[in-house]
Amino acid sequence: MEEKVLIIEDEEKLARFIELELEHEGYRVDKAADGRDGLAMAERGDYDLLLLDVMLPGMSGMELLRRLRRTKQTPVIMVTARDAVMDKVTGLDMGADDYITKPFEIEELLARIRAALRKRAVAATAGEGLLTSGRLSLDPARHIVRYGEEEIALTSREFDLLQALMENRSLVLRREQLLSKVWGYDYMGETNVVDVYIRYLRAKIDEKFDVKFIHTVRGVGYVFRDAET
Ligand code: CA
Repeated sequence: MEEKVLIIEDEEKLARFIELELEHEGYRVDKAADGRDGLAMAERGDYDLLLLDVMLPGMSGMELLRRLRRTKQTPVIMVTARDAVMDKVTGLDMGADDYITKPFEIEELLARIRAALRKRAVAATAGEGLLTSGRLSLDPARHIVRYGEEEIALTSREFDLLQALMENRSLVLRREQLLSKVWGYDYMGETNVVDVYIRYLRAKIDEKFDVKFIHTVRGVGYVFRDAET
């Protein structure tokens, strides 16, 4: 399987160089030159790894990472300027998997990418980050939802919505918050898209298995609660 890498880097020549090298190694590569575009792509796409420059127009790499981590655990390698110690510490604190300092040798970058992907694969096997409630389980790393032994087929949007709800269980989330977490902060659509997807989720989980996880809070939004048994 080809692994997909998103390069978020505003230095066009550097981004192009990395892209060519990665493609040569068999990765599929997308690029974004702006923090906002990068975040939108990272949230919507299904990337195996992000290569994230810290200094970006639109939105800094740090801010991008902070926002991305609300909904996604995609491995991230931060690309920092030489000797920017604060960046490294902050980046790792905020959930980056690794960092590399410019200028770097391409071989070093490739090694770090392989290491980050390997680490994530091992974590996935171990079920890291598994969310459960009663018989319902959601495995973010492997993108699988089960009720008991039965696997529930969800679209990626439904999956992200359920994950956002489960990660915030017992907390009432406003539609705008769910839009921001699941559709991306700059999504300009109507908030009733959330209601539509809540209906899909209820049909596939609550109604199908005759349980009640997803509750409506009138005039506010939705909350995931552990089901009463
Ligand atoms: Ca830059």
